[in-house]
Amino acid sequence: MPYKDIETRIREKNQQSRSLTNNIPISIMTVDYLLSRYISMETDLPQNYQQLQRTLSRVGYFRRGTLLERFMPCGKPGCACQGSPPRLHGPYYQWTRKVDGKTVTVRLTREQADLLAVWIATGRELDKIIAQMERISLHDTDRLLKKLPSPTRKASTARTSGKPAPNS
Ligand SMILES: [Zn+2]
Repeated sequence: MPYKDIETRIREKNQQSRSLTNNIPISIMTVDYLLSRYISMETDLPQNYQQLQRTLSRVGYFRRGTLLERFMPCGKPGCACQGSPPRLHGPYYQWTRKVDGKTVTVRLTREQADLLAVWIATGRELDKIIAQMERISLHDTDRLLKKLPSPTRKASTARTSGKPAPNS
């Protein structure tokens, strides 16, 4: 089975580069456990983070992209859309999004567009929630990391012994 061979090789290669994140699915509990051995930390996530988790669990379907309402001229000579002021045709509804760097457009009815508007709004809400979680996570994990001893740089501490580190 050549497939399995490739997978095994990729796994071995990752292990060579000592990727710690490979084990994450089983080790979220483990990380907490490991931390608790070193740090007397609050075991619960902060209230604002828990609130975001609950909000996240209620997020329904979502879509990316942009919903457009367009009015357009047709090609027929003498049509009202060519007059002045032009009375354009429409509204037409379009959903556009990037797929592999290219803009893809899908035409929709008004009814479909109404549904899509909700899904796109949900997608934006989701982004906001994730951004807030990321901000809190970065701040709090930074605090946790700083509770542990920093990596020692033997060579530089030996050379600069007695002097404070330049960036501390
Ligand atoms: Zn026309």
